[in-house]
Formats: sequence, C-alpha cells, structure tokens
Amino acid sequence: MSFFEIIDPAFGTFVLGNAPVKQIATGFDWVEGPVWFGDLNCLLFSDIPNNRIMRWIPGVGISVFREPSNFSNGHTRDRQGRLVSCEHGGRRVTRTEFDGSITVIADSYQGKRLNSPNDVVVTSDGAIWFSDPHYGIATDYEGYRSEQQLPCNVYRVDPSGTMQAVLTDFHCPNGLAFSRDEKKLYVADTGRIHSGDPQHIRVFNVDENWRLSGGGVFHVISPGCADGMRLDSDGNLWSSAADGVHCIAPDGHLMGKILVPETVSNLCFGGRGKHRLFITATTSVYAISLNRSGAL
Ligand code: MG
Repeated sequence: MSFFEIIDPAFGTFVLGNAPVKQIATGFDWVEGPVWFGDLNCLLFSDIPNNRIMRWIPGVGISVFREPSNFSNGHTRDRQGRLVSCEHGGRRVTRTEFDGSITVIADSYQGKRLNSPNDVVVTSDGAIWFSDPHYGIATDYEGYRSEQQLPCNVYRVDPSGTMQAVLTDFHCPNGLAFSRDEKKLYVADTGRIHSGDPQHIRVFNVDENWRLSGGGVFHVISPGCADGMRLDSDGNLWSSAADGVHCIAPDGHLMGKILVPETVSNLCFGGRGKHRLFITATTSVYAISLNRSGAL
C-alpha cells in the first residue's frame, strides 16, 4: 500500500518511504480546523456537526476541549499563541484569552451579521483575516439555518479592531494561507451550495500596506476542491482534496499527493519539527510524518 503519489520527482524528497498515513482519531461527522499547540503537545480540531472542539494528545488520545463550540470551524493561533476561532453558530470570529475568556473579534460588518466564518489566519502585524461563506447558515447541519445578510467576503481586522472587506468577488471563499514572506495570499473558492460555481485556488499579491492585487487562478484541485490549506517552509502549498492532500509548487504545478481514505477538509503542520502533517478528513483525523516542515 502506498501512502503517497509522486508526480514531480522532487516530491519524492518530501515524503518518507516508511512513514504511514495513520488514523489517530475517528468517530466524528465532519472534522475541520486543525491547529497544533506545540507548547501543550496537543492538536485541537472541530467536529462541526456535533458542535464541539476536540483535543488529541500524543500517547493519550482524544478528549473534548469545548462543547458546545458554537459550531466552530477553522482555527489558528495569533502571534501571542492564543486560539482564534471561526464560529458558524455565533456567526463570529473569537479569540480565547489566556484565562479562558472569549473575546469577539468580529460578528458584523456595516451593521449586518456575518454569514458563518469558515477559516482564519493571523499575519505578523497581528491582523486577523477570515473567510465568510454561507455554508454554516445554509442548513441546520453545521450551524443554524438563517438568512444571509452579507455577500461571501474575505475580511481583515487590523490590530486596532478596524474591519474591512478585502476580497468581495468570491462565490464562497474558504481556506486561506499566506506565503512565509507574506507577499502572497492564497484563497480557495469552493462555490455556493448546489451551484455550478468554479472551485479553485486564487493567488493575490500583498503589498507593504496589506493591499491585495492580482487574484488569478493559481491551481484547480481535482478530484474534489480546495478547502483548508497550509504552506511549508519552502513555499509549497499543501491543499485539501477529495483523495487526500495535494502538494502544489509555488508556480502552481501539482508535485504529489498524500493519499487519504476519506475526503479531506483541512490540514496543519505540527509535531516536534513541524514535520508532521495533521489531516482532518470527514469522520477521522490522520497524521503523516514528512521530510518537510510547516511554515508556521
Ligand atoms: Mg473550510
């Protein structure tokens, strides 16, 4: 059994011949939002339909971290290490403070409620960037069916709290990731539910004032679509797909795949050398050690 597929020979140096894709937890309904806490030696992830955030500790196993979670989806950590979360149920982005209290980062824009924040990243200036598609309010499965008040935008909340819609021409923006030098921003568009919308990853140039330009199609994932994604330390983009995790070079070509037996929603790097890829995939979480390190 092979755990990967090499398309560009260079990808052969990214993988380890004897390292398995290992199922580390299962029994969930739709897992998302993996985030690694090296300081706590644990992985957090969302089990969205079951309205909870789970915690996996190596050698210990699974426990509930937060329930209810307001149907949380994507997570990241800010530059102080605090957990930043997207919540479908609360239609908001929150930060968990060191004392456990919750601070609301954003829940409305120009007097209208957000849809259902999906994925989030924090840049080196402390700004919080998140996507706001309608998936969490379209049905009762991953939140509460509700009326959509805003287009599906990408927002930036700067450290002073000022919020701006920075990308407004998406059908449904989803995963987002910055290159290590923060000169490029990758954003997946996964399209509206029950539509024929295009599904692809777009790339934007980021200037010194965090303004975005460009936005052409960077890569079209097949099979499936790009949901969550992360970069490695050499600028390769690792994206979710229906058959696993795809590794895409900075020029946009597919280098290889990590094959996963369930549809992948998201991923993150973690572990001792940031060399372990944690993969949330439908009912399970998988992990594989790589000869590669995550950018963050
Ligand atoms: Mg997502």
